[in-house]
Amino acid sequence: MAQCAEAATPDSPKVTRTWFFLGNLARDVTVEDIIKFFNFEVEWRQDLARVELINDKHNRPKGHGFIGVPRYLTDRVMEFHERDFHGRKLKVERAKAGRYLKMTNRQFVGIGHGVHVSTSKQILVHPKPDMSSWPHVIDIGANLAHASFTKDLPRILNNAKVVGVQKIIVTGTSLKTSYSAQKLTQEHTDYLYFTAGVHPHDAVTWNDDVAKRIEKLCEDPACVAVGETGLDFERNFSPQDVQQTVFEKQIQLACKLKKPLFVHERKAFDDVLRLLVKYKKDLPPTVIHCFGGTDVQLETYLENGFYIGLTGSVFRDTQQHGPLQILIDKLMPLDKLMIETDSPFLFPDIKRFLKNYAAKQLYAKSDIKSKFDNLERLLKTYCKGHRNEPCTLAVTNQIIAILMGLEPEEVAKATTDNAMSFFRLT
Ligand SMILES: [Zn+2]
Repeated sequence: MAQCAEAATPDSPKVTRTWFFLGNLARDVTVEDIIKFFNFEVEWRQDLARVELINDKHNRPKGHGFIGVPRYLTDRVMEFHERDFHGRKLKVERAKAGRYLKMTNRQFVGIGHGVHVSTSKQILVHPKPDMSSWPHVIDIGANLAHASFTKDLPRILNNAKVVGVQKIIVTGTSLKTSYSAQKLTQEHTDYLYFTAGVHPHDAVTWNDDVAKRIEKLCEDPACVAVGETGLDFERNFSPQDVQQTVFEKQIQLACKLKKPLFVHERKAFDDVLRLLVKYKKDLPPTVIHCFGGTDVQLETYLENGFYIGLTGSVFRDTQQHGPLQILIDKLMPLDKLMIETDSPFLFPDIKRFLKNYAAKQLYAKSDIKSKFDNLERLLKTYCKGHRNEPCTLAVTNQIIAILMGLEPEEVAKATTDNAMSFFRLT
């Protein structure tokens, strides 16, 4: 029986793994479960052993996978054959090369490891990005009620947890998505929280009934902010006067309920500021999410005590005095910073980031190249296509830290502490 082995890649430890097929797996089994079950502590830690789970093209687990171990563990792996694992008898057998190739279908497979099957029928395994020590972060804005997440949310939440995303706040942008966000938090208590509000794009949908229902949603303890609300004069999907009225109503609601306010602002700095300052006396903690303004605007927001949310869109910023330059110039105080993905939007595109002049300068200055290689690998491993997912927050945190000249742990700790107290999370 031909066995399926791989050559060591130049940057991976010099190890040739022997691969075994794992069958009869329960659908909810994760890579982590398998790692725990096959208790090869040293081999897992040193990346001598690998595991892959096979998903179908819709990203649903197929119920089988592969484990690759150094040759000396062959007998020990076979001892797990027919053992009880998640209520089933595990099947372990030597992997046949043909079968492996057919099953992986030359596609990127698994939930945590970049495996590529080349046309020359060699299996090249990139070293798995080691996320075990990545610091904990909180995604303060993810649109998980978005239709693109309906099929594979469990996988997405699992990916987020693996890379250290500790909690996620699901953004409500309309009455409908606020209800959907609430429902998600009920299914994932203590991991997901939500906001309830009407986005400026949807301001035309506001009426007395919507107002009452949003207020009712805000009474749910899992609802941690009023919003997303604000003004968007860039796209003007709702007329500007309607946007202003609806924004003001939601500011009043936040003041009345003493709930934090989650604000969206695009090309509407003066009016957003005017309306917020009008209620300054009663205004609860306020965050300007996905900040995309200038250093002067930042300073004004900070003077008013507002918090700033940054997403991966920062890395595409080419403004002279925009968020990217603000980070490099160290103008962003850590005690007012929070981070978010705005999934499924705003994928943190590192390649585009590296094309940016400022980033190129940083890139040349230090040994940052290896860090970016790791970050790119992480993105490739966890994010297929360019739909953004909360797991990319780990990358955003790392890049923000690089730009600010800080350690990722410092940025993660500060932004996590800020999010915990701002949204009163427990
Ligand atoms: Zn927004």
